[in-house]
Amino acid sequence: MENNDNILFTESSSGMWAEIILPLALPQTYTYSIPLHLVDKVKPGCRAEAELKNKKYAGVVKTVLDKEPAYKTKPIINVLDDEPILYPQQLQLWQWMAQYYMCSEGEVMAAALPAHFKLSSETILLFNEEAGDDFSHLGDEEFLVAEALLIKKELRLSEVQQILDINHVYPVIKKLIEKKVCIVWESLDEKYKAKKENYVLLNPAFNNEEELSKKLNDWKGAPKQMELLLAYLHLEKLAGDVLQTELLKKSGATAAQLKGLVDKNILWVEKRAVDRIKTLPRNVDVDFEFSAAQQEASDAVAKSFETKAVCLLHGVTGSGKTQVYVKLMEKYFQAGKQVLYLLPEIALTAQIIRRLQKHFGGNIAIYHSKFNDNERIELWNKIRTGEVKMVLGARSALFLPFKELGLIIVDEEHDSSYKQQDPAPRYNARDAAIYYAGLFKAQVLLGSATPSIESYFNATNDKYALVELNERFGGINLPAIEIIDVRQVAQKGKVMISPQLKEAMQQALDADRQVILFQNRRGYNPYLICSTCGYIPQCEHCSVSLTLHKYSNKLHCHYCASQYPKLITCPACGSNNWLEKNFGTEKIEEHLEEEFPNNKIARMDVDSVRGKKAHDNLIQLFEQHRLDILVGTQMVVKGLDFDKVSLVGILDADGLLSFADFRVNERAFQLMEQVSGRAGRKKEQGKVIIQATNVKHPVLQLVQQHDYKKLYENEIVNRKEFLYPPYSRIVLLTLKHKDKTVVANAADKLAALLRQDLAAYIVGPAAPVINRIRNQYLMEILIKLPKEYGMSMTYKKVIRNHINLLTGEKSYKSVHVVVDVDTN
Ligand code: ADP
Ligand code: ZN
Ligand code: ZN
Repeated sequence: MENNDNILFTESSSGMWAEIILPLALPQTYTYSIPLHLVDKVKPGCRAEAELKNKKYAGVVKTVLDKEPAYKTKPIINVLDDEPILYPQQLQLWQWMAQYYMCSEGEVMAAALPAHFKLSSETILLFNEEAGDDFSHLGDEEFLVAEALLIKKELRLSEVQQILDINHVYPVIKKLIEKKVCIVWESLDEKYKAKKENYVLLNPAFNNEEELSKKLNDWKGAPKQMELLLAYLHLEKLAGDVLQTELLKKSGATAAQLKGLVDKNILWVEKRAVDRIKTLPRNVDVDFEFSAAQQEASDAVAKSFETKAVCLLHGVTGSGKTQVYVKLMEKYFQAGKQVLYLLPEIALTAQIIRRLQKHFGGNIAIYHSKFNDNERIELWNKIRTGEVKMVLGARSALFLPFKELGLIIVDEEHDSSYKQQDPAPRYNARDAAIYYAGLFKAQVLLGSATPSIESYFNATNDKYALVELNERFGGINLPAIEIIDVRQVAQKGKVMISPQLKEAMQQALDADRQVILFQNRRGYNPYLICSTCGYIPQCEHCSVSLTLHKYSNKLHCHYCASQYPKLITCPACGSNNWLEKNFGTEKIEEHLEEEFPNNKIARMDVDSVRGKKAHDNLIQLFEQHRLDILVGTQMVVKGLDFDKVSLVGILDADGLLSFADFRVNERAFQLMEQVSGRAGRKKEQGKVIIQATNVKHPVLQLVQQHDYKKLYENEIVNRKEFLYPPYSRIVLLTLKHKDKTVVANAADKLAALLRQDLAAYIVGPAAPVINRIRNQYLMEILIKLPKEYGMSMTYKKVIRNHINLLTGEKSYKSVHVVVDVDTN
């Protein structure tokens, strides 16, 4: 790269230019000239090395132009790919996403490409996966960077500067390196190097059965070689690709015996790039029978795809939606089409992976942010060539370069994890999937027992097709739900486990069944309060009360992860008496151990299961009935299928119903219905006990009746009246600054600017309930765009312009404005 300068001055121009997306939050793409010697290599979808402000980046060529732009252009330095790594559909998706979600194409690119595709000569910090995500030993500034690294996996120095808002970032980075949170990477070499190993192949002359059996029948001498050949044939049938090391190990043969077969030109040995993605046998086994209801639903889905691109499968919990997906996937697979199966959170769903692998073996690939980049790039390439036909992944799998996409399945489509919170692009993968599928004329199947209000609205207003599956597989009834008024069991504070629940648990355990308890708060006590003066310990950096965790014996902030020693003396009044308020999963676990000393109890929340392995292990233990009671946060809710759970307890329903959010009823219903759905899936009807004080709450009644439709009818009326989605599109602006007055003034100013054009649709500014996080004060402005406006990009441009006007002012330069379209 030393001779770049020469290239800059000596290259003759081709009279062609290229618009290039750089992996940065730039407001626009840049145009570069194409030097003559590169003119044949620059193609849309290829990566090109280009310079911006003296820094080099690998950008993606968006378009090739034959008109010179109005400004002076620099030449492209180099082209990194012989073939495009993307098809036009992916570039189109990026562009749409940037416009719709109000971010830059560079930000979409940064989210879309595996890290190793994003080269840069800038210093880059890479997150050190081995360090884990426990940042409790870090200082404030280190923490901010570490957290950003955890999310983005890598950061440029310039970004670190933005995050910290200070100039002296080097000392912070130095500490992070010493503490092994990150590694520095500073080179423009291709990081991706395929690992090569010896593969054994059969001489294609013997691929023909007849030739092969002739050879085997006429075999003379060398019995060990014959054995080795048979072992090879066996392995090949199972796995497809046969590694030399594997073959020798499995057959017990020697390298010399293998050489004998190679010399006879029966087997060949070839050095090839290793598939780092574990190869399973490539079988397809969908040989199960549908129930009549499944058959009907499956036919209805297929029929709907003749006229509509999107179908919502509304099937009650345990109705066998997964099996319907499986047969549908097989159909597309056999037709040579690619299929994408999206899940809300792949780390939480090892169970579904196993279920799908049972049917499709190595034909279904998993795309996982926890995979290393080499694996991700290999999968990327196999999808691009069409070799891999089926992929299972969380939202980022949407960015894979599909060639002939035929079907996208969005499982648990209501799940809020489909929405990316931070960083931009803050996209909803379900909605983006529908746009993306449209580019291929592919179909989308949305599935849920508790559809989002938006999807159900579309499905009942003829935009999507609607197919229902109203009975559980095996004909078992949905669980019976009993609501317990915990005020009747009056005690001090909240009732953790009512006598009724305890008795039901005992019955279930006596009958050799399992129990799941759900509580949406982790830790020991969600907060402490001084019994004398009412003081509640708060985080110094956030406006939230602290949670007591017993394992650390510390007070934790769940927003910034700060920890504080447990208070003995009240700083406000000097008293030593604390009331422990409410209860979290940790306390429930402790309580259960006292109440059920003979049973095996486990807890599942982010404190107890770190890393996907731990989570999967816990699930497998529970599956195998090596645990009796599982207590957890919403982690226990997600689509799990256990045979022997007969009882589910929802310990504090009030906590789910008390958020100030227009989706509160929808979310509470979804959570309760989903967690209930874990009970009584096989054999006999299950039971659910809900503990609440506000037992007359309409949502509780609807959960009791499993009446989704009524919930929808109630909700949709409110949404219409108050102009909430699906009757509007929401854009939430969050302003952040460390000075409370600055952020308040900025919010006023921005709201005034926005009102010039959108007066009727602006709500706020207002401080959110938690108005300070990590020393940053927050203010929010909510824009409820009427649906027609919300879809139109023009109004988003208007909003963007006003934000730019604000941050262009000197006094508001350091105010950070986060734009979240279709917020949830
Ligand atoms: P859902 O996703 O709708 O909650 P699942 O697909 O998990 O339901 O199905 C519930 C249970 O019933 C699973 O254990 C599944 O294996 C079983 N099941 C569903 N359909 C069939 C079928 N056609 N044949 C055999 N078992 C089935
Ligand atoms: Zn006090
Ligand atoms: Zn905090």
